Amino acid sequence: RRKWNKVVGVLRELEEACETSVERLRLVVGAMDVEMHAGLASEGGSKLKMLLTYVHNLPNGTERETYYALDLGGTNFRVLRVHLHGQQSSVLEHEVERRPIPQHLMTGKSKDLFDFIASSLKEFVEKGGDGSQLSPNRKKELGFTFPFPVKQMSVSSGTLIKWTKGFSVVDMVGMDVPACLQEALTQKGLDMKVAALVNDTVGTLALGHYHDSDTVAAVVIGTGTNACYLERVDAIVKSQGLLTTSGCMVVNMEWGNFWSSHLPRTSYDIDLDLESPNPNDQGFEKMISGMYLGDIVRRVILRMLLESDLFGPISSKLSRPFMLRTPMMAAMHEDGSPDLKEVARILEDILEIPDVPLKVRKVVVKVCDVVTRRAARLAAAGIVGILKKIGRDGGVITGGRRSDMEMKRTVVAIEGVLYSSYTLFREYLHEALNEILGEDIAKHVILKVTEDGSGIGAALLAASHSSYN
Ligand code: ADP
Repeated sequence: RRKWNKVVGVLRELEEACETSVERLRLVVGAMDVEMHAGLASEGGSKLKMLLTYVHNLPNGTERETYYALDLGGTNFRVLRVHLHGQQSSVLEHEVERRPIPQHLMTGKSKDLFDFIASSLKEFVEKGGDGSQLSPNRKKELGFTFPFPVKQMSVSSGTLIKWTKGFSVVDMVGMDVPACLQEALTQKGLDMKVAALVNDTVGTLALGHYHDSDTVAAVVIGTGTNACYLERVDAIVKSQGLLTTSGCMVVNMEWGNFWSSHLPRTSYDIDLDLESPNPNDQGFEKMISGMYLGDIVRRVILRMLLESDLFGPISSKLSRPFMLRTPMMAAMHEDGSPDLKEVARILEDILEIPDVPLKVRKVVVKVCDVVTRRAARLAAAGIVGILKKIGRDGGVITGGRRSDMEMKRTVVAIEGVLYSSYTLFREYLHEALNEILGEDIAKHVILKVTEDGSGIGAALLAASHSSYN
């Protein structure tokens, strides 16, 4: 009985520390807005880097020809070929090939990583459909999706600021990313030009905008999390004199590094951060994204076990960081069987804790729920923060509160497994959007899932920034 009380005590404490009332979420929204302003005002003005992308024209469907893209995801690597015919089509003709990134390349030397990427691309190019649809005398062009913070000098050049999501190819930091790729391509004898270096969120925005011109922002919630949006150039105070024909530029927020004292932080978050390879970094991401959610849950279960012996002896697996991956955590969370069979199986198979009683299994499900709900609601607050910054949150403007009639249709492109495949995460996110915005405003805000946007969008951006335009 006392042991059981301990378990319940750990749960209650967790619930309290993860509290995300709508009042608290509104404070997070406000903090996001303030940090966005600060990041735009000066270099280093905020934990939000608010990086310039030099993308000022988003694809609109008039693009033609065949373009390639390389999409270095957090866990997967994709090679794509996209055929564009000059008119918008609801289905974009493309081929895609996926392969996992060998673990040793994620923490090795840049040359090995780029050799691997270039070889994969070469194989893909040579295997099929080769530029037959390309005009003669035209070099093949490529968009390179690189989902890490980059300081761009132009749409096709930029240096790596830092790695995130478990990557650590140390000699790459500070290097010009497209130049490294270009060199590897040339060495492999591949006559191709890197026309655009694209953050994955920017690719997602590009594809979203191609299909729906009301798309103003994009969010990715996968291994990591980040967002970008279309900003007025005159609001980018830190680079005065920036001129674009459209008067706008896509800004890559790098919101994974957002921080605010209003974020509900637990001792588990603090420990996870301290033991991570990048302590004090990517705080928002560590509460939201697929790389971390499972590990937060594992830490809570470990605490419950240490405080009671209801789970039996401590298994070494449970003490090992990242033993519980987010897909397994989601599977426990979404276990619909009355006796929580799947929860029992995962606890036994993955964490080596056998014979967990049903009532404790129920607590484990509740832990998953608390951690995921917090993540989804914080992501929603982040999205509203962007809407607030660009005046699409229905907030107060001069002359009073906007009526719902005046609220423009606002589309946010969204990608990443957490949103697209984790139903409860998605539901919690929508619920929070409704709560924060109110239903009258929220009904004008549409989250649209794009598929392979990070890659296809990069090919589209290579097209809209082609040197043959
Ligand atoms: P990327 O690696 O490009 O960010 P994804 O959007 O596929 O791509 O995200 C992968 C991340 O999502 C991994 O961290 C993985 O642990 C997590 N994940 C994969 N499947 C699921 C799922 N069904 N539910 C929750 N998380 C998942």
